Amino acid sequence: MPIDPTLPYDDANIFAKILRGEIPSAKVYEDDWAFAFEDINPQAEVHTLVVPKGRYVSWDDFSAKASDAEIGGFIRAVGEVARMKGLVEPGYRLMANIGAHGGQEVPHLHVHIFGGEPLGPMIWKR
Ligand code: 5GP
Repeated sequence: MPIDPTLPYDDANIFAKILRGEIPSAKVYEDDWAFAFEDINPQAEVHTLVVPKGRYVSWDDFSAKASDAEIGGFIRAVGEVARMKGLVEPGYRLMANIGAHGGQEVPHLHVHIFGGEPLGPMIWKR
C-alpha cells in the first residue's frame, strides 16, 4: 500500500527499525548522515537502498526541512555507495518514490540505486 507522504514521521516504520538495529539488514555503507543496505527484493543485479539517518518521510519532507549538512551528507553518501559498487563507468540509475503516484511503500526517505546491467526504459509506458 502506498503511503501518504504528508503524514508525520512514524518511528515504527521498517527502515527506522533497520536504522536502530532492531531488525537485520545487509549493510553496505554507513556514515554520520546515511545508511545503505541491500534491498530485500532486488529488482536489478544491483539494488541498494540509501536512507538518511534523520527522521524524514519522503524526498518532499527532506528537501523542505533537512539542514544543508544533512542534505549534503546524504547526497554524498548516495554517490559514495555507487562508487563502492563500481557502478560509475557502466552507469546506474537512482530512484526515489514519493507518495501514491510514486508507489512509495516505506515512509522513511530512501533512494534506490539500480545497476549491474542495462536498466531498460526510464519509466513504465502505457
Ligand atoms: P518504495 O516502494 O517505498 O520506494 O520501496 C521500498 C523498498 O523497500 C522495496 O524495494 C522493498 O523491497 C524494500 N524493503 C521493504 N522492506 C524491507 C526490509 O525489511 N528490508 C530491506 N532490506 N528492504 C525492504
